[in-house]
Amino acid sequence: MNLVGQIEQHLPQQALELIKIVSREADKLGQKVYFVGGIVRDFIIGYPNLDIDLVIEGDAVRLAQNLAEVAQAKVLAHPRFGTAKLSCSNFTLDIATARREIYARPGALPTVSPGTLEDDLLRRDFSINAMAVSLASNNYGELIDPYHGKDDLERQLIRILHPKSFSDDATRILRAIRYEQRLGFELETQTGELLERDVPMLDTISGDRIRHELELILKEKYPERIIKRLGELGILQRINPFLEGNGWITEKFEKVRQLSKPPYLPSICFCLLIYRLGQKEAGSLILRLNMPKKLARTMQHTLRLKAQLSLLDKPSLKPSEIYYLLHEYHLLAIQTNVIASKPGAACSYLELFLDKLRYVKTLLNGEELQRLGIPAGPKLGEILKILHKARLDGEVKTKSEEEKFALSLHLN
Ligand code: ATP
Ligand code: MG
Repeated sequence: MNLVGQIEQHLPQQALELIKIVSREADKLGQKVYFVGGIVRDFIIGYPNLDIDLVIEGDAVRLAQNLAEVAQAKVLAHPRFGTAKLSCSNFTLDIATARREIYARPGALPTVSPGTLEDDLLRRDFSINAMAVSLASNNYGELIDPYHGKDDLERQLIRILHPKSFSDDATRILRAIRYEQRLGFELETQTGELLERDVPMLDTISGDRIRHELELILKEKYPERIIKRLGELGILQRINPFLEGNGWITEKFEKVRQLSKPPYLPSICFCLLIYRLGQKEAGSLILRLNMPKKLARTMQHTLRLKAQLSLLDKPSLKPSEIYYLLHEYHLLAIQTNVIASKPGAACSYLELFLDKLRYVKTLLNGEELQRLGIPAGPKLGEILKILHKARLDGEVKTKSEEEKFALSLHLN
């Protein structure tokens, strides 16, 4: 089968031009280059994808250096790993040296050595991700599909390449469910059985790697579907026994997707995942996933604020009271509580803080207060804070009202 038509339809002009140059330069070196992995899968199903992965039976770094000269692209090479990345305006091109991988023990990182295209495809997660397309001029566009990935795309199946796949690398358990739900496919029968058998192997995977796969899940279009399925299969609970993938979380994820800007999405979802956990259980999940410091703190803020919500559940709080109850919390922790808490006074106050109160500033600053004759020092700080509260509560409106009020505070 030849995919020239799909390639030309799929890739932007600039990428096609670069690909032609890659093909020519590889021919000159006498080395074979291929599209591999997700991009091939997406060529066939016509799904947008601008992460172009290439594999070369030869030397990726050398090819990339030649490209940098000829195509004037920016190249970032990692000679130690035999990989290079070309960044272009609207797509990326990764080139890797074809490799063999051997897993010394489950969950360990594999031992890597140079290999053929076949070796490189055999190390991959699923048949639908283990196809390649030739870039060589004599058979440009030809599909290479030793594990029948195209048949599985047609039959809508996620299938591993050998029975030890999930125990070698249990992150594939999370990946299998991500593709199953993204594509609306099913797990092939034996793959499904081995997946369930190997769920405990998740214990062999480092926190960073599990977190990375969770991030990929949370960046999907419908993360709630994946989380629900992970809950049904006991996969979430294997990561932390208190995690649940039931109706509550799916409903909240759906809400986040409708409300928030995409860059925040994974972080808010992490905060939602721990929302119904106690401080101690959340702490152990944060450790298990080796969460980055800042997000770990936001997650802790989220739970601390949740515990304080009753202080906000009063019908007639003044804006200044709301402000000073909330201003030290991370914004994301407040946003998470808006999504996670029940409608009511507290929730409306959180929204009021996010939409209005956090932007309220006094018209006068410290320097201007000094010009009025109030000396620098702790008292001036106090006056600014009282002025800010008065402004929040609408007790002062104009600059001259602020001046009058500040002076009266100074003289008393
Ligand atoms: P996506 O559309 O989600 O980016 P992708 O197929 O490009 O899909 P990546 O996570 O970018 O997925 O990985 C690129 C390729 O590397 C995959 O297609 C797969 O062949 C291979 N791969 C990634 N992770 C693993 C893994 N844990 N085990 C085996 N192969 C993997
Ligand atoms: Mg990719």
